[in-house]
Amino acid sequence: MNLHDPETGRFAIAIDGPAASGKSTLARELAKRLGLVMVNSGAMYRAVTWKTLQENLQPEDSPKVVTLLRKMNITCGSDGIESTIAIDGQLLNEELRSEKVNANVSTIAAIPEVREKLVGLQRDYLQHSSLIMEGRDIGSVVFPDTPFKIYVTAAENIRAARRVKIGEIDAIAKRDAADSARATAPLIVPEGAVILDTSDHTIESGLSAALDILKQQGLAL
Ligand code: C5P
Repeated sequence: MNLHDPETGRFAIAIDGPAASGKSTLARELAKRLGLVMVNSGAMYRAVTWKTLQENLQPEDSPKVVTLLRKMNITCGSDGIESTIAIDGQLLNEELRSEKVNANVSTIAAIPEVREKLVGLQRDYLQHSSLIMEGRDIGSVVFPDTPFKIYVTAAENIRAARRVKIGEIDAIAKRDAADSARATAPLIVPEGAVILDTSDHTIESGLSAALDILKQQGLAL
């Protein structure tokens, strides 16, 4: 039995790792295979960043960002197997992947009040269903008690090439350095996580390796 929350029996699968490591692809494939919702926690940090930039605030000006955060109405939901996010009623998609958002999201994600608010919303997802959540601190902070944890990585040149392939301008090494060095909830390999290097995997073989790991961790498939 895939027990995580003893009251509801619901469970979370935590997928962490650096930028462009293949987390989203893997989480989506797992969600399809297991019939679970896939929650993209990075989209939430991107949404707060997008709103900050819309309001012409400096991401470094954390007191002003926090004041804005308190006023924002953030609505998290799902559409099919994927999570959705809206701010003040506006559903956000492509705007979250802009060069400006890529360049500023790590600054916003280092603000403790932003993390506190978004971690609360991330945990709320478990009130509705079992899920797969991908991010940087899912196995370490958001759901530290889940037995199902995978840390996805890939060689840096391969990760950079993946971003170029989809036409995105994204300084991933800079983002990873900032995400790993921040004081609150840095990117780490969470305790109990199994590392999956996707450098030489196809989507199918990566999915199969992840299913093997989850089985070893006790997931009933
Ligand atoms: O996953 P994605 O690359 O879209 O995440 C964008 C940024 O959001 C990361 O570089 C990181 O700064 C932040 N993030 C985070 N914690 C998470 C997910 C994302 O700090 N759980």
